[in-house]
Amino acid sequence: NIAKKKKNAIQYHDKELSEKALQRRQLVMDLRQAITDESLTLVYQPKYDLTTLTACGIEVLVRWHHPVKGYISPDVFIPLAEEIGLTAAISRLVVDKAAAELGSAGVLGGSLTHVAVNVSADEFNNADEMYALTQFIKSKEALAPYVRIEITETATLTDMQKSVEIISNLQASGVTFSIDDFGTGYTSLAMLKDLTVDEIKIDRSFVSGVETDERSRTIVSAIVAMAQSFDIHIVAEGVENAAQLKILQDMGCQQAQGFYLGRPMALHDLVKHLNEDGTSTRAAH
Ligand code: C2E
Ligand code: MG
Ligand code: MG
Ligand code: MG
Repeated sequence: NIAKKKKNAIQYHDKELSEKALQRRQLVMDLRQAITDESLTLVYQPKYDLTTLTACGIEVLVRWHHPVKGYISPDVFIPLAEEIGLTAAISRLVVDKAAAELGSAGVLGGSLTHVAVNVSADEFNNADEMYALTQFIKSKEALAPYVRIEITETATLTDMQKSVEIISNLQASGVTFSIDDFGTGYTSLAMLKDLTVDEIKIDRSFVSGVETDERSRTIVSAIVAMAQSFDIHIVAEGVENAAQLKILQDMGCQQAQGFYLGRPMALHDLVKHLNEDGTSTRAAH
């Protein structure tokens, strides 16, 4: 009968839900453990100057190789870390490891002008946490002068006045500031009006269309022109082939990042890559 069927369906639904909840709880525990063990690792993806095609900066990206589940993308575990308040711990781990690794490899300086660290929205919007992070960065004396913080556009949405303050505090400490995934939020232009940013990164969703889509090309070219007149560094994200690269160069786009130019790579490969000419690609997860 219908009532019984419905009851079974609900029980089944509950069981499914609780299994999901259990899995999630396990993943949260594993993530905490990975942070405590410092078993999260780092990869580095260069940013290239498009006039010389040499690396002018590097972005640090965190990696989690789960002992059982294998590779888990930061797009999955960073939102989880946000929910349970672990992003500050991750930022610390990232800054700490990057300082140690890049310092020992001796790659800082020369043509590398900055090392970019991603900071999540919840951390950025917490002034105390940002202050603590800035102090921690300053304690890494060799790395500190190079640090650039990348914030996705949506992170600044909540309170523009507060964002202005947080950013100027960072900049007063010598940390530069970049808007990541530019163009994907609703506030792109408002942000450029009110915030003094050092760099904007054009989101891959626009860059991937420059070759085939007139409208994407127009948008990218307008953002490049705007950045130029604001005297802000501009980076095209997600360049995957020679044709895209050529178009960006012709537009006068200053910098780019992407698999075609250089993949995110482990320290060892980064060092080799930086010693070769800037255009080779190397696989890493
Ligand atoms: P993001 O900061 O915008 O980083 C760019 C992402 O695009 C990276 O993915 C990178 O591997 C990928 N990518 C780079 N070039 C190409 C390309 O040519 N084609 C394609 N299809 N993808 C490309 P990843 O490493 O999986 O990171 C995803 C996001 O997770 C990052 O986006 C960032 O928002 C976040 N994330 C990564 N590391 C950290 C971290 O240490 N802390 C925080 N809070 N967030 C992080
Ligand atoms: Mg980024
Ligand atoms: Mg991005
Ligand atoms: Mg992103």
